[in-house]
Amino acid sequence: MTKQTVDRSLFDEVMVPNYAPGNMIPVRGEGSRVWDQDGREFVDLAGGIAVTALGHAHPGMVSALVDQANKLWHVSNVLTNEPALNLARTLCDLTFAERVFFANSGAEANEAAFKLARRYAWDHFGAEKNEIVSFRNSFHGRTLFTVSVGGQPKYLEGFRPAPGGIHHAEFNDLASAEALVSDKTCAIVVEPIQGEGGVIPARREFLEGLKALCHKHNALLIFDEVQCGVGRTGYLYAYQLYGLTPDILTTAKSLGGGFPIAAMLTTANLAASLSAGTHGTTYGGNPLACAVAQKVIDTLRRPNILKGVKARSDRLRAGMTDIGQRYRVFSEVRGEGLLLGAVLTESWQGRAKDFVAAGMEAGVMVLLAGPDVVRLAPSLIIPESDIDEALTRFEAAVKKLCG
Ligand SMILES: *Cc1c(COP(=O)(O)O)cnc(C)c1O
Repeated sequence: MTKQTVDRSLFDEVMVPNYAPGNMIPVRGEGSRVWDQDGREFVDLAGGIAVTALGHAHPGMVSALVDQANKLWHVSNVLTNEPALNLARTLCDLTFAERVFFANSGAEANEAAFKLARRYAWDHFGAEKNEIVSFRNSFHGRTLFTVSVGGQPKYLEGFRPAPGGIHHAEFNDLASAEALVSDKTCAIVVEPIQGEGGVIPARREFLEGLKALCHKHNALLIFDEVQCGVGRTGYLYAYQLYGLTPDILTTAKSLGGGFPIAAMLTTANLAASLSAGTHGTTYGGNPLACAVAQKVIDTLRRPNILKGVKARSDRLRAGMTDIGQRYRVFSEVRGEGLLLGAVLTESWQGRAKDFVAAGMEAGVMVLLAGPDVVRLAPSLIIPESDIDEALTRFEAAVKKLCG
């Protein structure tokens, strides 16, 4: 029997059309290079949307996965398991956290964070204290609760009624948050760097102001570090870059380096409100995911790796800034570490998707973050020669677009 080949047209026949994938179908990856069905090779500056922190087919991750696969895949949370316990201990050692809840996606980690915030307020202050303040343009996931907390109303269109008690302030505008926070607020949730919203770092004074507001109103400060966490800023978590500790932190994407896992980190005092039976998920903390994530964290915690993120960031930022100036396409390259956003100039507004398509054509994978920003979120250990090659290809793409 001959093996049936598949191509992009099959997507339209058998998949729900909620995504609009490109034509190229990747079949193999190694480091920061990816190959498609025809053997065409690409430099990957997209990183599976800030996920493949150690690149593709990282030998240490492959053996962590295979070793665990030969031992134990799943037991459910009726029992605990060694990889989950070890990973939780590591996360507690390296962060403010005293307690960890494992989930499978960023949305689920945020769902747990929001539920914990409400439950803690309910435990200590009563049912009236249930409001959540979030920010316009923020992104927290696609479950009904998380998409309602997120600040992009178009993602709620046709899915209402939405959960109540949620208010949206202006990002980086403390006064607008002040106007919405009261003693009924149980939590303020913020991305230290808005990812999907356009790679916009929070200003330090803004985050400090939110923390003070939380303190004043007995509300919890939640940092959604699903995109900016796990080494991406050159710090294990962005709160360490800002020098400002949240009450709850959510992490996913790069945590598993491509294997689905997420976590909610918090203190022992807060964790007590999610007592036995209050919340859960079948796959959360499963041994395979935790063994892989352990390898990711153990690799990133080596000091020279995080230093390397800074060096790579400088190189990539300089190259993108140079292209932006020479072709007058970018007004600014912003972000931290290896989460960068090149902001299109006035005359290119709305055309980020054309840069993504042109990049693909030229053999380099980049992302967009909204209609006006080209986003880069490569492997944190991308070889510098791959950065140079990616920039050469991207320049060719831009030249063609401008020509
Ligand atoms: C991607 C993302 C999420 C959602 O994560 P999923 O794993 O897709 O559910 C939540 N918050 C932020 C900041 C993200 O970037």
